[in-house]
Amino acid sequence: MRRRGSNFLTAAMLCAAGFAAAPAPAGAADAGPSKPTEWREAFSPDGTITRVKIPRQAEAAPSRTDEQAAAAADVIPIQNSGPSDSRFDMVIVGDGYTASEMGLLRQHAQSKWDEISTTAPWDKYRQNINVWLVNVVSNQSGVDNDPTEGVNRDTALDMGFFCGGIERLLCLSEPKAQAYAAQAPGVDAIVAVGHTTKYGGAGYPSLATVAGGNEHSGRIAIHELGHSVGGLADEYFTPDTTYPGGEPGEPNVTTDPSGSKWASYLGQSTPDGGAIGAHEGGSQYERGIYRPSQDSLMRSLDKPFNLIGLAAMDQAIGSKISGVAPGTSEQTPR
Ligand SMILES: [Zn+2]
Repeated sequence: MRRRGSNFLTAAMLCAAGFAAAPAPAGAADAGPSKPTEWREAFSPDGTITRVKIPRQAEAAPSRTDEQAAAAADVIPIQNSGPSDSRFDMVIVGDGYTASEMGLLRQHAQSKWDEISTTAPWDKYRQNINVWLVNVVSNQSGVDNDPTEGVNRDTALDMGFFCGGIERLLCLSEPKAQAYAAQAPGVDAIVAVGHTTKYGGAGYPSLATVAGGNEHSGRIAIHELGHSVGGLADEYFTPDTTYPGGEPGEPNVTTDPSGSKWASYLGQSTPDGGAIGAHEGGSQYERGIYRPSQDSLMRSLDKPFNLIGLAAMDQAIGSKISGVAPGTSEQTPR
């Protein structure tokens, strides 16, 4: 039997982004000669998320010149709430912005932070997070394959659409982005904004990419931060798959159909609608694994986190912050 993630590629409305670290669905391995591949998440404008397989992307490591450029990059505080050792540090890097477009980069970075920081539970800690913008200067303006395939631009982080042939999958060189992000005083999460107005983004183990000039792309970053900051599993699934493993480590999926993993929340109403229970399907698998609610942000981009996701995110963000009362700039005794 063959099951191909590439079925999704034919969907007219497909938009794509990815999270490289998640497991492949059972039964999804291709038969035949194996070329290196990786799984990516595909985000559609209607909020649904699917999973696609693409050829493994070669990512250029930073050259000595890149490292020198990174070391010389200006770091600007979009928001400085206190010392990095007692704050959550969000770092924003840009790609496809030339030296004369640093003002536009700042505007795009600010708009992404505004969107993230008004989403629960980020909103609770809004005043207690440091947001650093690294002024990554590119030689040319814009990103590769925008608006169409075959357009190449010389940019600092090699960002481009049509990653693995998926139009809205916006890839970059993760090591280069990390080299620039490391210039900030602290790094707890990285968002890379690209100079484009076209909807798209991608998830990497250490960062999320988003279209800087597209007002709907910020949700992609918020979902990916659910993985990278909150340690949350996806809550969508690939049809006709059965979970093969033991109890997963992520807080928002379980093999227990009674949902005892989140027993204290069972029956409580959740911001994404309905009540916390145990709904079959999650972590890419349709059967044999359960999620806490019908349709949270880890399943649909236009929904909020459910109570379990909120608690995990709250704990993860809050654990980096000390010496201040959440939601205020009031100092508390250490
Ligand atoms: Zn995901």
